[in-house]
Amino acid sequence: GGGGAGPGTIAAIVTSLGGGPAAVGIVRLSGPDAAAVAGRVFRPARRAAPPWRPRSHFVEYGVALDRDGGVIDEVLVVPMLAPRSYTREDVVELQCHGNDLCLRRVLRACLEAGARLADPAENVSRLISAKSAAAADSALAGIQGGFSALVKSLRSRCIELLTEIEARLDFEDELPPLDLTMLVSKINGMRQEVQDALDTANYDKLLQSGLQVAIIGRPNVGKSSLLNAWSKSERAIVTEIAGTTRDVVEANVSIHGIPITLLDTAGIRETDDIVEKIGEILSWKYSMLHSAYLYNGVERSEAAALGADLIIMTISAVDGWTEDDTKLIEHVLISKKSSGAPVPMVLVINKVDCAPFISGEQFEQFHGVFKKHVQTCAVTGKGISELEKAIIEVRGLEPVPSEGRRWTVNQRQFEQLLRTQQAFTRLESSINEQLPMDFWTIDLREAALALATISGEDISEEAVTYIGA
Ligand code: GDP
Ligand code: ZN
Repeated sequence: GGGGAGPGTIAAIVTSLGGGPAAVGIVRLSGPDAAAVAGRVFRPARRAAPPWRPRSHFVEYGVALDRDGGVIDEVLVVPMLAPRSYTREDVVELQCHGNDLCLRRVLRACLEAGARLADPAENVSRLISAKSAAAADSALAGIQGGFSALVKSLRSRCIELLTEIEARLDFEDELPPLDLTMLVSKINGMRQEVQDALDTANYDKLLQSGLQVAIIGRPNVGKSSLLNAWSKSERAIVTEIAGTTRDVVEANVSIHGIPITLLDTAGIRETDDIVEKIGEILSWKYSMLHSAYLYNGVERSEAAALGADLIIMTISAVDGWTEDDTKLIEHVLISKKSSGAPVPMVLVINKVDCAPFISGEQFEQFHGVFKKHVQTCAVTGKGISELEKAIIEVRGLEPVPSEGRRWTVNQRQFEQLLRTQQAFTRLESSINEQLPMDFWTIDLREAALALATISGEDISEEAVTYIGA
């Protein structure tokens, strides 16, 4: 496809961007080629021979595709053809998920399909700099078949077991006894599958919210250089905050599509606002108050409130592990203890270009503290991909395996899966405690019902609704 649309067809996001997460967002096409452009972007779920023909004032369900035919989002398309539209020209609305990323990607697809941006003042680069494309992909939760197949399979296995158990209740004498070992292992298997699905929700959350990574360490070990090299290697969006001309305090990179915000202490000294914004960055306090802070232990818990999901402790290979490093790390450990929330830590040994061999004995007492050691040279960027790998491993960020079709569960699916999971757990203990079989069926029914609730939510392929003129 592509091209061909007259200059008179415009595309615009007509719901607001950047506000709270709205349920639905709308991209509106208007102009003589609105239907043609929509036809290139929209693929109806309903089985119909292409090309898609818009029916005025009918809502149709399907997906929006990018230029390469990849699915961007599930959408409802509402054509309002001239003269029955408010502007008296052809209008087609694409209603997609309300988050910014979905909206922007659908808009971009419309632009690639030949529309032009409604307001030239609109900042096209905003579309392109979408933080993480994977987040939008995961908004497709459930529609790509894998998930609904899983739910269906789980449900039919529940019903199978239910049938077997009920048969024993009704015709106890005529049937061989249930193989309990087999039964329990089947339930276990199902529970694991539900758990895997539940895990995708956590991954999904990560895709949305990203990870906060704090880079801490003594002054001059190379924290800022590391952050700069890292963000450059990722062609990241680097936030330059007023008052910090030389150093960057916050940068975004992404690993496996997960947005990572790197926090460094550089420049924080200059501006109070940044202190507010970034909160308790440990190394800031450290460099501000230095050892006095470490000794008197004031504000311990504040340091723990750091809020980072992961801490990168940076040392210099030139200096080796120093007394101050010990103090700093001990302080972090105390804070972690008092806050009760363990934050995983990775040790970065920087400046390996100057002193490549640093003995692990120097920080042996903290051996268990650091999940990984990585050697870097922040000047050349050497070791940064290893650092990324370490973060992935430490945080268990391996993407949910997929053959090009990752799915993640949404909140409602999550709740029903949890209900399923709990039913399986009760069922197992009912079996173990040798409760009567009637109890077993209650739990199995509960699981099957929860699973049915999930499938019942699927929008059917026939979802075509007349909305009136
Ligand atoms: P920070 O105070 O921890 O943020 O340290 P900086 O990033 O400001 O670096 C302090 C000094 O060390 C600067 O002169 C850097 O150029 C230098 N530096 C940082 N990383 C390396 C490295 O890997 N190798 C070498 N040779 N110098 C580095
Ligand atoms: Zn610095």
